[in-house]
Amino acid sequence: MSTETTQRGEYVALTKCWYCGGDNEVLIHRQLRSIKGMHDKVVNKTPCTNCEQHMKRGIILIGVIEAKSGGDVENPYRSGAFVVLTESAVARLIQPKALADAVIKHRSAFIEHQALLDIGAIKQDG
Ligand SMILES: [Zn+2]
Repeated sequence: MSTETTQRGEYVALTKCWYCGGDNEVLIHRQLRSIKGMHDKVVNKTPCTNCEQHMKRGIILIGVIEAKSGGDVENPYRSGAFVVLTESAVARLIQPKALADAVIKHRSAFIEHQALLDIGAIKQDG
């Protein structure tokens, strides 16, 4: 490394992962137009490297609180709970079977925070 410093310009943005909220992709605008507005934002549902690994190994369940979501089913209020279960655990814990099958197919799902507690996927204080 030289003493040259790299400044984040207007043409570069680091997006956030839709699933975990962590850093996702670095975008660089081809024609050097400003994409400053995309920095720190979720811009698509492409999983970050971590979430991609989670989805290969299991199913991501994202805890939500419906009562705080204001009816937004596309992007509900998140409780902060984030768990990865195996397919067999999802098949065992989620009913009816058609719902479990759909969750397994999608590799991720929003789930009511209380339901995560009920099925023992998380503990009360974590
Ligand atoms: Zn992620």
